[in-house]
Amino acid sequence: MSGSPSTPSAGVTARASAKVNLLLQVGPRRDDGFHDLVTVFQAVSLHEDVTATPADEYGITVESVGGTDVSGVPLDGSNLALRAARLLAERAGVDEPVHLHVRKEVPVAGGMAGGSADAAAALVACDALWRLHSGLDGLAELGAELGSDVPFGLHGRTAVGTGRGDRLVPVLTTASFSWVFVLGTAGLSTPAVFAECDRLRGLDDWSAPPADGRLEAVEFALRSGDVQALGEALSNDLAEAACSLAPELTATLEAGRAAGAVAGVVSGSGPTVALLVSSPAEARRLVRDLAPVLGEGRLRTATGPVPGARVLEPVGTTRSTRGS
Ligand code: ATP
Repeated sequence: MSGSPSTPSAGVTARASAKVNLLLQVGPRRDDGFHDLVTVFQAVSLHEDVTATPADEYGITVESVGGTDVSGVPLDGSNLALRAARLLAERAGVDEPVHLHVRKEVPVAGGMAGGSADAAAALVACDALWRLHSGLDGLAELGAELGSDVPFGLHGRTAVGTGRGDRLVPVLTTASFSWVFVLGTAGLSTPAVFAECDRLRGLDDWSAPPADGRLEAVEFALRSGDVQALGEALSNDLAEAACSLAPELTATLEAGRAAGAVAGVVSGSGPTVALLVSSPAEARRLVRDLAPVLGEGRLRTATGPVPGARVLEPVGTTRSTRGS
């Protein structure tokens, strides 16, 4: 992990980011209730900053950044960041409670894994505060116990995920891609979207199709940095189920394409829609054009890939890189 800051007793802040699924292939439901996935994650520049500070008892506060509606975030022991801190403490034999402060930019229940990013950032912040030096693999193993998307929150950048999405292999990317995200008007529950996917397919007689070249198409587009090819390769097996539960998503995707996005895809289990565009300037143009139709408050721009969870140096301790 990145080095710990010079004054850990004052608190350590770690940053983790949202993800978008460039590909989400969903296999049949397994006996344990999970689905085998083949997915390509990309970490994008909507951030969660989690500060861990020594305290008398465990607690959490959540602050909205950029207008994020944080009303759906639990402030009790079910919060994924708090569960992450406690799990790390338990496994490492640490008896030093922390207060976690989350600055939340990622939409809640939006299919962008904001809660998982909080857990990843909490693991990294507490690991540094408690000087555990667990290493990325050690934290990712703990993260997988908390949720399928937590290991990717730790790794970041772009990766193929298999199993429940928690077994990761990095993907070579040669370009930065620009995105406009359209927030849903209400959250969608991930289990409900998977259940709807099963219902639409007919659980009993559906079996996974053979490998169909979709993964290779995404990998080729990433390797060549070709935004048009990536647009053609984006796909999400949960999209139909998400659109069935939230029909306005179909109109949002159409609005994005009509406004000139290279392509659009439902992000994870939705209801956020991810619109791929050719440049940051084009992202700003799209936001200007879509704001009157969809509402400016629902639009966010971002780029990816960005790094995984990492400690942020306290203000004033960053060395100048000028002239180096
Ligand atoms: P997924 O990883 O399943 O795609 P998501 O991105 O759709 O999740 P999240 O914002 O991660 O959605 O949260 C899903 C639910 O988890 C929330 O509705 C909330 O009840 C619960 N939750 C627990 N901890 C957190 C957290 N730190 N931030 C946000 N939600 C949390």
